Amino acid sequence: MREIWRRRVQRAEDLSADNTASTSLVAFYAVVLRAQGDLDERLATRTGWRPSGDLGSDLPALRSYLPAMVHAVAEAAPESLATEARMLLEGGGDRVERALTAFWRAPSDRQFFAKAIVQPYAGRLAETGVAPVGRDVPRADARCPFCGGPPQLSMFRGAGDAALEGAGRSLQCATCLTSWPFRRVVCPHCGEEAEHKLGYFHSPAFDHVRVEACDTCRHYLKGIDLTRLGTAVPLVDEVASAPLDVWADEHGYVKIELNLVGL
Ligand SMILES: [Zn+2]
Ligand SMILES: [Zn+2]
Repeated sequence: MREIWRRRVQRAEDLSADNTASTSLVAFYAVVLRAQGDLDERLATRTGWRPSGDLGSDLPALRSYLPAMVHAVAEAAPESLATEARMLLEGGGDRVERALTAFWRAPSDRQFFAKAIVQPYAGRLAETGVAPVGRDVPRADARCPFCGGPPQLSMFRGAGDAALEGAGRSLQCATCLTSWPFRRVVCPHCGEEAEHKLGYFHSPAFDHVRVEACDTCRHYLKGIDLTRLGTAVPLVDEVASAPLDVWADEHGYVKIELNLVGL
């Protein structure tokens, strides 16, 4: 498995060893990440293959691996997802592929398996600089400049060049998992810039994670502060801080994009 995926898996396995409210979620996410890392490696090491950017045309490169991936994830999945996996598998390869191409055209964070498979594929596109095609996604300021995906999370890497506006903050794409710089005080959902409309909420249980909420559109995402915890892996720490999602939901905020464990 390539380094970037290996680090994610390792972080999830480490965090799942802690006995917290999110242990079982993080343990499940570790299984998902391992399956995604295996798919990534297959794509990255496929001899002579270069993606076209159109998932439908690129399916032959993914096809042979998909049933095994759905199966591996299903074994660790909560019951509702395991049922969905069985339905996909019983429908044969066709059903998985139809779900994938539908997701590619019109993404939804409720389509767990499609999103889990598309992430390493879209990541491969980003890495090879092949633009995604055939996707019906809005192009907006707060969307991934590469693929148009919504942000999964926000992260801080330190001040960097303080002369740059918003230095240090970036958003990570929920689809291709690349990140891009983003201004510090602005809602990534509606673009609100008024400071009194933007709230940041901490819990002592997660010193390096905060809920970044907007009172104009009532949406939120979580921010991972790598200056507070350098060993954090944003995608994984975002999942491990699940109690903050419960808090946000109880306070009437809607997440911009659900993560792969459905929170
Ligand atoms: Zn993207
Ligand atoms: Zn907003």
